[in-house]
Amino acid sequence: MYLYNSATRKKQEFTTHIPGRVEMYTCGPTVYHFAHIGNLRSYIMEDVLEKFLRWDGYDVNRVMNITDVGHLSGDSDEGEDKMLLGARREHKSVMEIAQYYTDAFFADCAKLNIKTPDAVQPATGLIPEFITMVQGLLDKGYAYVAGGNVYFDTSKLTRYHIFFDHDEEDLAVGVREGVEEDQNKRNKNDFVLWFTKSKFEDQALKWDSPWGVGYPGWHIECSCISLKYNGEYLDLHCGGIDNAFPHHTNEIAQSESYLGHPWCPQWFHVHHLVTPEGKMSKSKGKALILTTLEEEGYDPLAYRFFCLQSHYRKALVFTWENLDNAQGAYHKLIARIAALAPGDGEVDQAVLQTQREKFRKAMGNDLNTSLGVTALYDALKVKANDETKLAILGDLDKVLSLSLLEKAAAKRAEDAKVKAVAATTGGITVTGEGDPAIDALVLQRAQAKKAKNFAEADRIRDELKAQGIEIADTKDGAVWKRV
Ligand code: AMP
Ligand code: ZN
Repeated sequence: MYLYNSATRKKQEFTTHIPGRVEMYTCGPTVYHFAHIGNLRSYIMEDVLEKFLRWDGYDVNRVMNITDVGHLSGDSDEGEDKMLLGARREHKSVMEIAQYYTDAFFADCAKLNIKTPDAVQPATGLIPEFITMVQGLLDKGYAYVAGGNVYFDTSKLTRYHIFFDHDEEDLAVGVREGVEEDQNKRNKNDFVLWFTKSKFEDQALKWDSPWGVGYPGWHIECSCISLKYNGEYLDLHCGGIDNAFPHHTNEIAQSESYLGHPWCPQWFHVHHLVTPEGKMSKSKGKALILTTLEEEGYDPLAYRFFCLQSHYRKALVFTWENLDNAQGAYHKLIARIAALAPGDGEVDQAVLQTQREKFRKAMGNDLNTSLGVTALYDALKVKANDETKLAILGDLDKVLSLSLLEKAAAKRAEDAKVKAVAATTGGITVTGEGDPAIDALVLQRAQAKKAKNFAEADRIRDELKAQGIEIADTKDGAVWKRV
């Protein structure tokens, strides 16, 4: 596979330290609020990457942290702890907030068919290991204590900035206005490894350490968690583009200084979901969450489909109209698959292999998911029986995870039910919430209409309206809903 590598700014052949095995790390969510749909875009694209690697024959070990301590409201060690802000906002303890939003995050992931990583580690569960790494960095001369905090000394590195081809605006996220300079820092880019002195006295989570009671800086968790679960050599590191600086830059500084050798050669960064007004941001509180999309009548998988239609290295503009179009296309695709007849013959293995190769080429070219989606439509057009088409769709969906076969089977079953009802009611279909009393009235009205007894039909419509029921006549029959 060829993958763009942010560290070299080139599309390169994907390689691994141990042939056939991928050690993969993903920066997880900061659990002080719901993940917004921009965050979820990053996790959807990383999920597709992981699944494509598995589909392509790799054995993948994927690790993710949960940031439940240490992430200050500014990415550069300034502001208040995001978790503390969340706890104060909701009058709960920090750990209650962490548990609630961690559960909410994985519930969203499940709805979006995002696989849970092989290892998930909350930062608060690994404090002794963080302390060991910070001590190691001090012992090796890469860190210093000042004003009670431990800092990483970036002047000890031959190269600090690894990623510098990012949009100005993305980089600016880490450098917020109105920030006070930390006078303890010897160099502008130095960052905190361990806080004991902070601007806020009521930090809820504190641990004893050789430097005093305090808590870890944000970046140390990813270096440490990756070392514990992925080992000393990481093959692939993922995150949203705003993580590139300072977070990933600092992870590299810590890990390579601690380990004494190169750490992770390949970096995968997902660009932002934006709105026409600008970036979607959790901390600014103006972010859309998955539940809102559901409340507005959207299937979470229609959002996944929307994300897959564009390339991960381009900003993706979210509008309701764009999502509407994606949902329409997704439903049409399911309907076309539902129209196929399973079990109409043997799978044509040659055709299946040809389509697999086409898909591999598209996705293997820097994860071109929009061409991956096109391959689904190609599958519907191949010269083969329906069983072969379904086999191709099922195979490609192991990577795209749009629940295509399951949704098509459900639609087939639903259509069959509607047809069966139609057969028992003289060709008139009634669909609604399945309330027999209302179904009977709707049916009577339809029969009256068929018999051209419009006065009776109108009377029944009015009777139903009085009960809060609205009827629509569709080509498939009468459909009712409560209003
Ligand atoms: P956070 O919970 O803020 O630590 O972010 C979780 C993940 O979402 C990180 O990988 C971020 O880089 C990523 N992210 C943040 N904002 C966006 C956005 N608007 N679009 C896509 N990814 C984002
Ligand atoms: Zn991280």
